[in-house]
Amino acid sequence: MPSPSRSVRSPAGTGPVAPAEAVTAPVGVVGGARRLPAVDRAVRELEELGLGLPRPVLVRLVRRELAELREAEREIPREGGEAEVMGLLRRAAEALAQGRLRPVINATGVIVHTNLGRAPLGEAAARAVHQAAGQYTTLEYDVASGERGRRGAYLEELLATLCEAPAATVVNNCAAALVLMLRHFTGGAGDGAKKEVIISRGELVQIGGGFRVPEILEASGAVLREVGTTNRTEVADYARAMCERTALVLKVHRSNFWMEGFVESAGRVELAALAGAHRVPLIEDLGSGATALTADAAGAPPEPTPAQALAGGVDLVCFSGDKLFGGPQAGVIAGRAGMIAALKKDPLFRAFRCDKLVIAGLEETAAAHLRRATAEVPVVRLLGADVQALHARATALCEQLADVRASVRIVETTAQVGGGALPRARIASVALQVVPRDFSIDELARRLRVGGAGATAVVAYRSVDALRLDLRTVFPEQDAALAAALRKALAA
Ligand SMILES: *Cc1c(COP(=O)(O)O)cnc(C)c1O
Repeated sequence: MPSPSRSVRSPAGTGPVAPAEAVTAPVGVVGGARRLPAVDRAVRELEELGLGLPRPVLVRLVRRELAELREAEREIPREGGEAEVMGLLRRAAEALAQGRLRPVINATGVIVHTNLGRAPLGEAAARAVHQAAGQYTTLEYDVASGERGRRGAYLEELLATLCEAPAATVVNNCAAALVLMLRHFTGGAGDGAKKEVIISRGELVQIGGGFRVPEILEASGAVLREVGTTNRTEVADYARAMCERTALVLKVHRSNFWMEGFVESAGRVELAALAGAHRVPLIEDLGSGATALTADAAGAPPEPTPAQALAGGVDLVCFSGDKLFGGPQAGVIAGRAGMIAALKKDPLFRAFRCDKLVIAGLEETAAAHLRRATAEVPVVRLLGADVQALHARATALCEQLADVRASVRIVETTAQVGGGALPRARIASVALQVVPRDFSIDELARRLRVGGAGATAVVAYRSVDALRLDLRTVFPEQDAALAAALRKALAA
């Protein structure tokens, strides 16, 4: 029997298409040993669940599920009434509705959680996005002359100032920034003479799911020239690889791991001198986008800021807008003015350019960094929250939950930055540790995740024998909703 979750993983337009004859088969006709409900009636029953799924989506779901049932039952006929089939359809519809984008309370203790949308925007940034979304804007319009203006001109000025760079620009994400730079400086898909990108074997990293530096390089038409070993790469290794085919030298920040022991990597200054002598650009992918506000957060060895990398002689840097920078998804590129101008003329730039919503959110985020307004960037605020304050909130929550059917205790934990940033940071944190009396820990986790009926969805994490809700990633103004969600999940 098809499981309800199969429909969820195959959203409209992307999943396997049901066979044409099944879709158009007369409704209510026997495929196996039992009658299946008519599409119309099944859809009407599902509509009564009030899941908010548009009718055509329900029709499609019912047709697909019934077609799959018919197919399955052709081989193994099954007994069982319509009620059972309706139950199956209801679960499939509920599973589909749960796939809708909606807010969750992040109680995982991972601040930049990729699965939970990375950085939440600050209030001013969110307001700017909202304003730009519902009205016409000056996106490419110069109010002084009444003529066409430059998209993102003000934002580029803010980013250049922040990175202490001659120029800066922005594309859809850091992966796009990397592809743009690699394609541009290696001449794209054509077979030019200068295609080799020199990179240390210690930096051929994978970041999260689906982002592997060597694959991005190859997809960009570059020819990978690996040098050194996993743990040691010296400037001399780069120097030996330099030749007339070299297009650029790439440094990639090890965002999500660190190496200890017999480790060496080439310094920026020496590498910049080498690249300069051969007249090829030195590019550094910084990944997380640490700024002065976050570089030495949480007692971890500091991440290099874009300004530091550029001061070290790097020609161009790129970093994510929605990791430690705390803005919307974007990829910032900063560095030499001539190179930035050339990148902006590349046809790929047009394909990777940001929309007005991102520009609006990023303008406010960059301005907050420039003002050093820590409180205005949620990622920075969460990172810096005082442990005593977390304890006080945990105590208040425990008191509110004194009568629930569970053991609720306060435990000290360590939170993480996540999102491929500051992997060594162990941030002291405080969590509620909950063990339900009437059902399993996994069942509690599931109930919290699903939320519903007025309860905000909560994503917690399991320790060995309890569910933990880390308060570092929960906004203080969400505490009441968190308590309500726990109360509801623990009831019945
Ligand atoms: C996260 C990361 C990327 C990818 O950034 P996106 O903005 O997600 O495209 C690239 N390089 C490094 C080093 C990273 O840490």
